[in-house]
Amino acid sequence: MTYEEFKAKVFEAGIIGAGGAGFPTHIKLDKGMDYLIINGAECEPLIYTDYEVMSHYGEEIAIIIRDMLKILGIKKAVWGIKSKHRELIEKLNTITSLDDNIEIRPLENIYPAGDELTLIYKCTGIVIPKGQLPSSKNVIELNVETLYNMYEYIYNNTPVIDKYVTLTGAVEEPKVVKVPIGTPFKEVIKEITLTVPEYDILLGGPMMGSFVSSDAKVTRTTKAIILLPKGTVLAGKKKMIGIESIKRAMSSCSQCRMCTDLCPRNKMGHEVEPHRLMNAFANGIVQNSDKLTTALGCCGCNTCSYYACHHDLNPAELMMMVKKELIKQGVKVTPMADSKINENLSVEVPSERIVYKLGLKAYDKHASFKEYSISAGRVYIPIGAHIGKKAVPIVSIGESVKQKQIIAVGDINTISANVHSSINGIVKNITETEIIVEGR
Ligand code: SF4
Ligand code: SF4
Repeated sequence: MTYEEFKAKVFEAGIIGAGGAGFPTHIKLDKGMDYLIINGAECEPLIYTDYEVMSHYGEEIAIIIRDMLKILGIKKAVWGIKSKHRELIEKLNTITSLDDNIEIRPLENIYPAGDELTLIYKCTGIVIPKGQLPSSKNVIELNVETLYNMYEYIYNNTPVIDKYVTLTGAVEEPKVVKVPIGTPFKEVIKEITLTVPEYDILLGGPMMGSFVSSDAKVTRTTKAIILLPKGTVLAGKKKMIGIESIKRAMSSCSQCRMCTDLCPRNKMGHEVEPHRLMNAFANGIVQNSDKLTTALGCCGCNTCSYYACHHDLNPAELMMMVKKELIKQGVKVTPMADSKINENLSVEVPSERIVYKLGLKAYDKHASFKEYSISAGRVYIPIGAHIGKKAVPIVSIGESVKQKQIIAVGDINTISANVHSSINGIVKNITETEIIVEGR
């Protein structure tokens, strides 16, 4: 297969990053890179989706890695996995034992080991400067489930119609299941026995996820649905937003700098300094200050809010709020030519400590893989659940569609992705955000 054919296949399949903001994958596929970094770090506590995908489809992922190295002319692949997963590392070392250009790299159990730039540094020693893409340093980074999705289309002609999801929290048996894209959470939750009568639904991990209603739908980026009893420490933290956050910043920030010293992006020399932003808020400075532009480099990992701050303040929320506002006003990150690790900031954040600190120890149980797919009667397939332009629907209301059929198209030359029907059915409605298909 040529490079152009490979890239076209990845685009056809509707593949977007399965582990983050959902960047369409075909856009990342540059030729002649030095490194392909494979993200199996799964640094959010409680989630086992990537672990189970690697455990069950390690061979398939290795096949597509070999294809990418050959077709894209990449020199080396480094596959990052937490060192605590000893058996899995052994298994993948066996699978790749004849591949001189694939290395399995054990990682410390720290947060955020799975952050794209942190992982690239841990696997290669390369620091991506602020405002630059990994490709500026000849690196491509992809999540393991993204690679498995590539295998599924190239070898089995199956586009992205399902998502592997960890179901965990206050449940009898945590599991990782396959769910058709567009399935409402309330249908997925029926698959699991809860241990509490009332619960909050956390979409994604405790650190970067958010609480949602049971009307939320599974998308191509849903890694976990975590069901927690009402009134957790975590829910309290995530509810402290907006004006309350600002008032608390004004009254309680001691300017101790812990938020900045533990910030993973600051450690990379990106000048991300949440304590300075807190100082700006405390002094009523809300515009025209270089203290505000520090927010542009924030990745929203929440380390500053949920781990570093001893006053339970929420600098991350203010950083993201200011970042969004600056972007809306057209302020751009000034790209750095180079950046290096700040060796003075050597403290790493152990994932176990996060679990304790957020009061989640009781729910920190392994979720095991179930060899079945949840079936959905009606799916609400998003046409824009990824970074970039929405796909354009090409079906009509009342039309019969087949599973795997393209129902909305992206454009290979822009940041957009195709969308496929996850079930056989009839198109019931098409809205600004989704195509609703009723199963037959
Ligand atoms: S959320 Fe906080 S710790 Fe994370 S990158 Fe932003 S400022 Fe740094
Ligand atoms: S860690 Fe908390 S108290 Fe200390 S500077 Fe940051 S926001 Fe202020």
